[in-house]
Amino acid sequence: MEKKLTGKTYDIQGFSVQDGPGIRTTVFLKGCPLRCPWCHSPESQAFHTELNWMSIRCLGLDECGKCLDVCPNGAIARGPYKKNAKDEDIAYPDVDKSKCDDCGACAKACKADALYMCGTDYTVDEIIHRLLRDKPFYEESGGGVTVSGGECLSQPEFTLELLKRSKENGIHTAVDTTGFIKWEIIEKVLPYTDLFLYDLKCMDSALHKQVIGVPNELILENAKKIAQAGGRFWIRIPVITMLNDSKEHFDLYCDFLSEIKDSIDIVQLLPYHKMGISKHDRLMKKEKIFVVEPPSDALMEEHKARLEACGLKVRIH
Ligand code: SF4
Ligand code: SF4
Repeated sequence: MEKKLTGKTYDIQGFSVQDGPGIRTTVFLKGCPLRCPWCHSPESQAFHTELNWMSIRCLGLDECGKCLDVCPNGAIARGPYKKNAKDEDIAYPDVDKSKCDDCGACAKACKADALYMCGTDYTVDEIIHRLLRDKPFYEESGGGVTVSGGECLSQPEFTLELLKRSKENGIHTAVDTTGFIKWEIIEKVLPYTDLFLYDLKCMDSALHKQVIGVPNELILENAKKIAQAGGRFWIRIPVITMLNDSKEHFDLYCDFLSEIKDSIDIVQLLPYHKMGISKHDRLMKKEKIFVVEPPSDALMEEHKARLEACGLKVRIH
């Protein structure tokens, strides 16, 4: 029997009002070629289903300890006592991610769902079924589906099929992308994409590579090609302290966005926030997440005014 095409998701969010116009369903796919150190969804980065642990749910090894003996790789050991939110001393499991192969045995044993696997496979039919349930809300509000990530175009066949089927069913489509993807893939989804939510994280390519792991030329080139091909944009700029929050950097944004201005419906400015920290901790990674202070409201307003002076419609998220 032919294997059905599936996409690996880490979340599907109904009634979303931030990911495009109207009320939307956002389908978050796993896997991303970028490594933004401030990422607010670090569970989206890996392409595979991955073990997470939420300390607040854990009963501790003295009361429970069901996870301790099940690991076939010996990746779970007894950790030192730590204070929980109620100021009680609790011994928690200590997972060595270098030994873990994400088999899921410990998550299955954990009845409190403190250990859980992140990553669920869905067929296009399953997602379309869910979208059709919410179609009246899309019609009422001018909404639809947003395929997001991670980088959803890193699962190109699934994303293409989902967009095609959504259009066949009269559903407005948006693709939330980093733009760091081969043009051939973007070209295929273009006819089925009503709107691109397009991230421009940093205009200095060397800095982009140093901080995020890849340069930005392909991203800028693809944005111009999408504009030439008639695509529409919501441009998204995460404003990150010490990375792209200077006046000079926003002058570069103005220069570039002026070139594709006629294709842009709106520019969203997204101030850095610290919500990724707890999700990063759940992945039990040794590397520390990048933490800076969020930009001030006054600075956000200054940047908004700068872009508006270039003739762009701007919203602070
Ligand atoms: S998911 Fe990782 S830690 Fe849990 S049982 Fe499997 S290998 Fe061990
Ligand atoms: S099985 Fe779950 S609740 Fe029990 S100690 Fe392990 S992680 Fe905590």
